[in-house]
Amino acid sequence: MKVYISGKFYDKAEAKISVYDHGLLYGDGVFEGIRSYGGKIFRLQQHLKRLYDSAKAIQLVIPMTQEELAAVIRQTLELNGLKDAYIRVVVTRGAGSLGLDPRKTSDPQVIVITDHIQLYPPELYENGLEIVTVSTIRNHPNALSPRIKSLNYLNNILAKLEAIEAGCLEALMLNHKGEVAECTGDNIFLVTRGTLRTPPLDAGILEGITRNAVIELAKRDGIPVREDALTRHDVYTADECFLTGTAAEIIPVVKCDGRVIGTGKPGPVTRRLRELFFALVREEE
Ligand code: PMP
Repeated sequence: MKVYISGKFYDKAEAKISVYDHGLLYGDGVFEGIRSYGGKIFRLQQHLKRLYDSAKAIQLVIPMTQEELAAVIRQTLELNGLKDAYIRVVVTRGAGSLGLDPRKTSDPQVIVITDHIQLYPPELYENGLEIVTVSTIRNHPNALSPRIKSLNYLNNILAKLEAIEAGCLEALMLNHKGEVAECTGDNIFLVTRGTLRTPPLDAGILEGITRNAVIELAKRDGIPVREDALTRHDVYTADECFLTGTAAEIIPVVKCDGRVIGTGKPGPVTRRLRELFFALVREEE
């Protein structure tokens, strides 16, 4: 597998960057996770927009245009002969001195890794996932905005560790107000009396590309959608719950904090949206 780093392609074992890179030293950088299905890259422009917006928010200038980066991503997929792939784009602040000051760095590094995707185990898509609310709250938007997809994912990793400790694969994270925010790598949706509900962006969440696609699909299919502040009570009493993310796609959740959600099986709205989503990823480029 070839990896792109700032203008050149390297074999996986040779794909390396400096230990002085602030991406490593401080998590100073941004990234994206993107999928391609049958050679079609799903919503590449939206992923690139989010990447460049994240970079802008941390005053990082990506040293190429969105068009140039899109071309590099396509070239990397082609070189690796991948049609169904996970694409990881990373932009680091670059190598610098051992201080925080981003001005004392040079040459942001642009990295494109393409590989096969590791989804949740297939039986969980059939039977549903169990999640648990963790004590680690999602980053306060005024500390590190969850809208920025930064290389500093410790907030999510701390939550993930708690979930693993509790025997679950994903954690439900609340925000500083105690409202439902999102999971460590996925957005959350509920279905209550036929209405699809998901936390609004100001709950302090990442604006998921899959989240936006699901909202669009539901609206087009005549399913009412609301972006509402949600509590754990809403999760426990929902008829259906599912998570969305580039890697996870749409995965049903059937238990949260020991409470069975709905019938305890993936529900009809979740199944319908999964169908529509798979049709979409195969159609769209
Ligand atoms: N929330 C967080 C914290 C994430 O890391 C991700 C994965 N990128 C998501 C939500 C889902 O976003 P997307 O659908 O764009 O992958």
